[in-house]
Amino acid sequence: MAAAALGAGRIPDDVTLVAVTKYAQMDWVQALAEIAPSSDFGESRPQQLAERAQLLPGIRWHLIGPLQRNKIRKTLPVVSRIHSVDSLKLLQDIERIALEEGLHPKVLLEINLVQDPAKHGFHRDLLLSHLDEICKVRSTQVVGLMTMAAHSDSGEDSRPTFAGLRELRDELARRSPWPLPELSMGMTGDFEVAIEEGATHVRIGSALWDGLE
Ligand SMILES: *Cc1c(COP(=O)(O)O)cnc(C)c1O
Repeated sequence: MAAAALGAGRIPDDVTLVAVTKYAQMDWVQALAEIAPSSDFGESRPQQLAERAQLLPGIRWHLIGPLQRNKIRKTLPVVSRIHSVDSLKLLQDIERIALEEGLHPKVLLEINLVQDPAKHGFHRDLLLSHLDEICKVRSTQVVGLMTMAAHSDSGEDSRPTFAGLRELRDELARRSPWPLPELSMGMTGDFEVAIEEGATHVRIGSALWDGLE
């Protein structure tokens, strides 16, 4: 990661590694937290995140997968970021509960930039057409955008998607009240390219755990 950042003329500290722990057994997660106690860990299931956050409260936890409505209240107090806000409805539900609970959760809007029906997220045109509604949230802090590239054996194939997310961010930053500094993009197969295209958060799972079984 540091090499990719320096190679792109960026400061390595400006890119946060979110260690994706969804595949890892709890004793491995605990071991990693002992080596790196103030790290960022990511989970894709709210239930598992809540359980693990209770055991490891010193870690900054990131939700990177779908958030069901009935899990919002339990999730908000234990997460540092929700990367996966993929609909206006979900954003509005988070806002309502944040208001009720007196919380100011940080969220990223998940954007679907690839033609893959299995992927979650706002399509660009829908996002822009809902922008007035999106911009009404006050308790919720929209801090950036997240995306996943189409699966490929070559990280280079993700570049247009990642560049597209950065361009969309620049456009939204002009048209919304928020500067949207954060770009969550890049996984094990394409994080170098993501850093070159401006990622502030890379979400890396298998590279950390492969071989441990
Ligand atoms: C699992 C997951 C990752 C990590 O993927 P790896 O290829 O294992 O690094 C990143 N982001 C999301 C949203 C995920 O669900």
